[in-house]
Amino acid sequence: MPQKRRGKVRAAGDRRQPGDPERCCVVCGTEFSIADGTSFWPARSRAFLGKKCKGSLSGPCVELEAMEFRDSPSSCMSLYRAIIDGPNEPPYISGVALTTMSLPLSALSVVPKDPSRAVIVEARTRPPHLYAEFHAANVLEPDIHRAQGQQVGYTVHMPCWVLLNRYIGQPSLSENLPVFLRTVEDHWRANTDHWLTYDIVNYDEDAHAILPWVERPLIANHEWVAGSDQHWMGINTMSNPLIIPEIRVVIQRALYGSRERNGVLQGPLVPVEIALMIIDIIYKDSRYGADGIADTQSLLEAFGWHLPDSYWQARCHPRLVFEVADLIKTGQPVDWPLLCFGLETLLCNHEWYYHSGLRNRVRIVHWIEQIRDGFKAKLSATDDAIDDERTE
Ligand SMILES: [Zn+2]
Repeated sequence: MPQKRRGKVRAAGDRRQPGDPERCCVVCGTEFSIADGTSFWPARSRAFLGKKCKGSLSGPCVELEAMEFRDSPSSCMSLYRAIIDGPNEPPYISGVALTTMSLPLSALSVVPKDPSRAVIVEARTRPPHLYAEFHAANVLEPDIHRAQGQQVGYTVHMPCWVLLNRYIGQPSLSENLPVFLRTVEDHWRANTDHWLTYDIVNYDEDAHAILPWVERPLIANHEWVAGSDQHWMGINTMSNPLIIPEIRVVIQRALYGSRERNGVLQGPLVPVEIALMIIDIIYKDSRYGADGIADTQSLLEAFGWHLPDSYWQARCHPRLVFEVADLIKTGQPVDWPLLCFGLETLLCNHEWYYHSGLRNRVRIVHWIEQIRDGFKAKLSATDDAIDDERTE
């Protein structure tokens, strides 16, 4: 379980110097969960222990990025990269490192330089061509370390970096890291109330919810959210926003289901617009949930209605549930109603949705889309300035 705190609490052994800011994710504005071990990477941890902890515990980043972290979802938010910004070379993105209770023993954090490599436990020797040491960048104020010509790093949760790349896209992000860094500084200076948070207690669920018209009951007994009527204003920022195992299961079932329903459906006996209107009345009810899903399935079956795949796809929120967007792109056969109902069954399971990584993903994507807009505006302003110079 992640540590729950709201203030600026430092990890044990933290010997940062005055002027060193807290490390915080420049994409979502929250701090890093503190890992309680390395067992989330079982095969490589066992090999490391088998060698009596000689060398480093390391491997390819893609292994960690694809991992479900079923037993300890918050561990994925202990993993981070840094955009290293030094005086002698352009900014670059590092590999993945881990936040633990035992670091930092000096004011400097350490990350592998290779962006494809994750180093969870470093070897005793850290050759400078393999590792970068940095002070956490001061995002909100002038940076004293940068002013002294030292190297600083803008830290990002490992999952947030993947999401950022997905929503901004390559190559524009990696080719324009200086513009990106100025963008996140402007962004967080305009949103200081949301910077350096851990668990958020004033989350605006109404503005960001999926199925916002559905009335959700209070979820009881969360000691870290004060007040008995505030539950949906609290959000666990350490749930895995990237890999959501339950959504993977729903998709697998829908892929399998597409083989079973092949050829058994018929067209609607009423105009499709009428069928859609009836189905939508059930869907838009504030009590929509398991009963509404069952009623819809019964109607479809009883009348043999076969609604367009595009209708079901839109109900799967492909902007946020990017697994659905990926599936649409592949064009492979999918039982779309089955996928839609499977997803809605999750979304209407209030306890699941409250704690889910999907809810945390919605929060993070909200920030990414704002950062993306600012980033693109800065890029086009730069392009315009270059064009003006050429025409002068
Ligand atoms: Zn983040």
